[in-house]
Amino acid sequence: MTTRIQVGVLGFGGLGQAAARVLAPKQEMVLTAAADAQGYAYNPGGLDPDRAIATSNQQGSLGYLEPEGTLSHQSIPDLIGKATGVEGYFLALPNLPNTFMANVAKEFIKSGWRGVLVDALKRTSAVEQMRQLSSSLAKAGITYMTGCGATPGLLTAAAAIAAQSYAEIHSVKITFGVGIANWEAYRATIREDIAHMPGYDVEKARGMSDAEVEDLLDKTNGIISLENMEHADDLMLEMAGVCSRDRVTVGGVVDTRNPQKPLSTNVKVTGRTFEGKISTHTFTLGDETSMAANVCGPAFGYLKAGISWHRRRIYGLFTAAEIMPMFVK
Ligand code: NAD
Repeated sequence: MTTRIQVGVLGFGGLGQAAARVLAPKQEMVLTAAADAQGYAYNPGGLDPDRAIATSNQQGSLGYLEPEGTLSHQSIPDLIGKATGVEGYFLALPNLPNTFMANVAKEFIKSGWRGVLVDALKRTSAVEQMRQLSSSLAKAGITYMTGCGATPGLLTAAAAIAAQSYAEIHSVKITFGVGIANWEAYRATIREDIAHMPGYDVEKARGMSDAEVEDLLDKTNGIISLENMEHADDLMLEMAGVCSRDRVTVGGVVDTRNPQKPLSTNVKVTGRTFEGKISTHTFTLGDETSMAANVCGPAFGYLKAGISWHRRRIYGLFTAAEIMPMFVK
């Protein structure tokens, strides 16, 4: 039997915990390392996802996990130093402030660790910061896959494939529907979504207390409707040569009180074929698939792809629109 690839998850909230569940039945990868804001856990033999999730939810941190947990206020650098067997991490961290993820990437560069990192960043300005780190990442021997969640991620990649039918791309329109039972399960996601609402920005949303978020959601009946968002699908498709960023639009509806999607998530790619016909390809996600399934699945598919590149000594920054994800068995 081949040895399973050791992977880690940084951030153990909504997405981090879902990532642990997604990995549980996999033969090719095993979750051995995880961190939250108060601690971390490492076990080269594998972390038990049920115990890790229960400990994190009941005691507030993975640091309390027996026997492999450690409490720490600098859990990320501590874990990187300790978890020497980990080949890749999924960064399921809040990007609050908007420079947070870039600073985590710098922490990895500084540590001398070599391997694969995958994020599910959303904002164009956040992916732009990663782009600036491209040569430092390459020099450090890190293969960094950015924008590898659902949108950006799965839908951006689908747009890059759909674009191939056309000689010219007129528009890429991403519309997402997210349904979650309660906002507390995905605090960072919801705060970052609020940051796109009129009158809000990242700093304002970051500074809101949980009670203030609840008040706001009470006023909107739990619904967040977003249009013309600053979403990195635009930059990623431009970098992949598909179209200029001004042709890409992203919007959607998040229902924070109902796990059913308020609308079907889809991407529409309109263009002109070489024969002069104008047409639209539409790729629609199944309504039964959750945000967690559509983020964590691609994140590990891109992690697997990143590991195959890393093993061939290909380092630096790549986006979900540049590389095909593989599938983790
Ligand atoms: P969450 O709030 O549920 O959890 C965040 C976790 O990060 C917590 O465990 C917290 O303890 C940990 N954390 C915070 N600061 C830390 C630190 N300094 N060191 C270590 N751990 C720390 O977050 P979530 O709702 O799961 O969202 C995670 C990210 O995923 C967000 O940035 C969100 O925007 C992104 N996201 C992307 C997509 C996509 O399609 N691209 C979709 C959904 C969410």
